[in-house]
Amino acid sequence: MTPAEPSTGASSRGLTRRSLVLAALAGGAGVVGGYALAGRRAGAAAGAGPTVTTAERHAAQPEALFRIPTTEPIVALTFDDGPDPLYTPAVLDLLADRGMSATFFLVGANAAAEPELVRRILDGGHGIGNHTQDHRSLDTLTAQQVRVEIQQAHDALIAAGCPEPDLFRPPRGRTNAIVGTLADSYAYRTVFWDACVEHFVNHQPVAAGVEQMVSTIRPGSIILAHDGGRIVGSESAPLSRARTIEALPDLLDRLTERGLRVVDVATLLQATGTPALAV
Ligand SMILES: [Zn+2]
Repeated sequence: MTPAEPSTGASSRGLTRRSLVLAALAGGAGVVGGYALAGRRAGAAAGAGPTVTTAERHAAQPEALFRIPTTEPIVALTFDDGPDPLYTPAVLDLLADRGMSATFFLVGANAAAEPELVRRILDGGHGIGNHTQDHRSLDTLTAQQVRVEIQQAHDALIAAGCPEPDLFRPPRGRTNAIVGTLADSYAYRTVFWDACVEHFVNHQPVAAGVEQMVSTIRPGSIILAHDGGRIVGSESAPLSRARTIEALPDLLDRLTERGLRVVDVATLLQATGTPALAV
């Protein structure tokens, strides 16, 4: 799959933004490319900084999803950074026991290393999204590097047997307008989250964290958890996801008790009439 050509079918606003970025990709140090990248640096210098809050992410990618406004008793469950042989099998067993589906935002390098786990995820009826090839913070990269991170993961997922992915999540939620435009050019729907399991359970007793988290979840919420603790090829020390695995049974049971149906992102979009693609 190649990025859409900007010449037809785009709104004038989208056409302008996309043209700038694609010209930057094609031209490198060209005048237009220089403009787009200089604009990004100017934004950072003006205090735009890394996108670590929902408001900052929304400003960078206004079309991205954080939750779906709905009164339907339905929430999406998502897992990032897998597949990981230490944790992904336990998550899949847990979901199978409860008859639930989830979306797994896979790292391309991890998917290439664990094709059997990718197959298990697909066989379980779950969705798969692109979480880049190497899990780098995209707002620190050039447009060309971002494009390569998205493209390589796209190719790795397909090589591992996935259907063509149409959901994307920037690592650590770190993004900017260039990332948004590139994701759009691949017809990816960017999906962030409004509740993160590790945020609640990694810094206090797990039961208390689950209790607190459940009270924040509402219809249309998009829940983030992590089934991966390491990035293949990275020198960073692996992270333990033991607390996540400990929290999940209680969390999922509590959501069910509240009458909320736990599904993958595509099912949430379909149930709420949300377009699957951003472009
Ligand atoms: Zn991640």
